[in-house]
Amino acid sequence: MTDFSEFAQVCQKIEKIPGSIETTSIISDFLAQIDDDELYIVAHFIRGKVFPQWSDLEPGIGPNLLYTAIARTAGIKVLDVKNMVRDLGDIGAAARDSLKKKTQVSFSAFFKEESSISIKEVHSRFSDIATSSGRGSQSAKIRNLQYLFSNVSPEEAVYISRLAVEELRIGVGEGLVRDAIAKAFNVDTELVERGYMLTNDLGTVALTARKEGAKGLSNLNIKINRPIKMMLAQIAESIESAVSDIGEVAVEWKFDGARVQIHKDYDHITLYSRRLENVTNSLPELVKKLKQSVGAEQIILDGEVVAVGRNGKPMPFQQLLRRFRRKYDIQQMQEEIPLTLNLFDIMYINGRSLIDLPLTERRKILAVHIQNLEGLTLAEQNITGDTGTIQRIYESALSAGHEGVMLKNPSSLYTPGKRGKNWLKIKPIMETLDLVVVGGEWGEGRRAHLIGSYTLACLDTENNTHLYVGKVGTGIDDKQLKELTLSFKQLVITEKGKELQFEPRIVFEIAYEEIQKSSNYSAGYALRFPRFLGVRADKSPQDADTIERVEQLYIKQGTVYIP
Ligand code: AMP
Repeated sequence: MTDFSEFAQVCQKIEKIPGSIETTSIISDFLAQIDDDELYIVAHFIRGKVFPQWSDLEPGIGPNLLYTAIARTAGIKVLDVKNMVRDLGDIGAAARDSLKKKTQVSFSAFFKEESSISIKEVHSRFSDIATSSGRGSQSAKIRNLQYLFSNVSPEEAVYISRLAVEELRIGVGEGLVRDAIAKAFNVDTELVERGYMLTNDLGTVALTARKEGAKGLSNLNIKINRPIKMMLAQIAESIESAVSDIGEVAVEWKFDGARVQIHKDYDHITLYSRRLENVTNSLPELVKKLKQSVGAEQIILDGEVVAVGRNGKPMPFQQLLRRFRRKYDIQQMQEEIPLTLNLFDIMYINGRSLIDLPLTERRKILAVHIQNLEGLTLAEQNITGDTGTIQRIYESALSAGHEGVMLKNPSSLYTPGKRGKNWLKIKPIMETLDLVVVGGEWGEGRRAHLIGSYTLACLDTENNTHLYVGKVGTGIDDKQLKELTLSFKQLVITEKGKELQFEPRIVFEIAYEEIQKSSNYSAGYALRFPRFLGVRADKSPQDADTIERVEQLYIKQGTVYIP
């Protein structure tokens, strides 16, 4: 039985060292020494996850709940904890400092500073928290958290609280855990990687590697009702470059909707969102149609759900999301936001994984088992190397209100979770926006000394003020990040925890995928997937884009639907 304190020490060590090779060794040594049950748990804990990604379970611990549990354990006010989080910018550090107060007071009462709680017990308390529901569940959750905090040292509380919010902040990603498993149990990294793709569960992979070695890993397979990660797409430079890279391509419309993975297990249909959340209950009409259309006992399919407006064109993405998140009034919403489903891939049928078959083969199998119905269709696909034909398909997709086209390598395998060169997307280039940077946020872990995210605003010339439209952190390379940090350090007006406010001096050129209506930002609009293109050193803050231009671009992008 391993103490949670040992796990906390591993995290502490990793936090202190910069190199990934050393990190891999620390993790692999730890994985090798713990027992089987602990191995399953730690394979998730070390990435800040309490449960595997395919699982419906999540801790479901909001910040207030956590602050309350910390405050009660430490005998201080919730507001004190909140202030500490704001000042320290980290719930872990706030929990540690809060509990230190308690420890000081309790020393005289022989309060134990040493941990006496095991990894398994921590996991089991989190499971209790995740499964408690209904009346009294909030207090049950707080009690469980209080129990945990009362039985760990302040240093361990750092990781208990970070696990509670599933953000361990020690910079350990899937790749590192994969390498550590391979090293700990002396198996090929590729086999570990493959096992992970099929099971979506590093715990299962670690246990199999330990108990059954390479042979066991090769036998791992996809399981129905355990979602696998979605295969992802890359942006292509142009149709020409895609064809010159791949040759003949399988061309499909890039539907403007949301991804779903469908699992049919006899009469039982389950739908998972792109983030692998179970969204079945909010989409009953799709479940019904799938039951009518799919002619196989067990099957896993990939597709895109589109919300269709009265004009026959896709509704904006946020409308569609209202369907995905809905718990009540589902019947009424079916009429307000009707859905269609376009199926484009198949990964599994009747006990057999199909991911190692080429796309063309998978597509043939898919076609045999799907019966096109109104609102549920097999996505049309053309295999061609003719750029003129592709251009025509692209234009037809755009005029139907969709996003563009996907150009897929016909011989490619289905690679879960991978953003490779086998699926390329072609989309129109959006006009860019020049926006003033009015705030920022310090990074995390190894990037804590850099300003990693920047708050963007457009101008409201009438009221002589700035209106927020979003934040950007993508598209900035390491060198730029250092340079930007140096420049913006001179412009800080206020600093609260990790949040910074700047004098509005610098203008960024920003690319994005879409402008959405949003109540989160004062402009009333938000940029979807904003990307930094560069500093517009030639522009002064007064020359930045205005709210009127944001509005115009919103209308121009053609996603305004007729309700
Ligand atoms: P992006 O979200 O821009 O990275 O583009 C990839 C997404 O396009 C996928 O995750 C799907 O949700 C969506 N998509 C729409 N049509 C297709 C299609 N025919 N094949 C694959 N993905 C598609």
